[in-house]
Amino acid sequence: MMSKKVYKGEEIEVYFDAEKCIHSGICVKGMPEVFDLKKRPWVNTVGASADKITAHIDTCPSGALTYKWHTKPSDTETEKE
Ligand code: SF4
Repeated sequence: MMSKKVYKGEEIEVYFDAEKCIHSGICVKGMPEVFDLKKRPWVNTVGASADKITAHIDTCPSGALTYKWHTKPSDTETEKE
């Protein structure tokens, strides 16, 4: 079963793992312009600035929501492994 979804945005990619979600509602209540279960896709990756979206994803208590930056906002060009 594929329970992981990816939502591609301009600066970030948002991942959602339905199996981990504990339905706290923090994502939808705190940022309805981005996380709206009535919409498809329910994650609007350009509904707020990528900085705000990633900060809000960090408050997800279960780890169901995660993200990856396409471009890092501060350090340009320097990639360290
Ligand atoms: S904040 Fe995380 S655990 Fe809570 S409903 Fe959203 S995805 Fe699920």
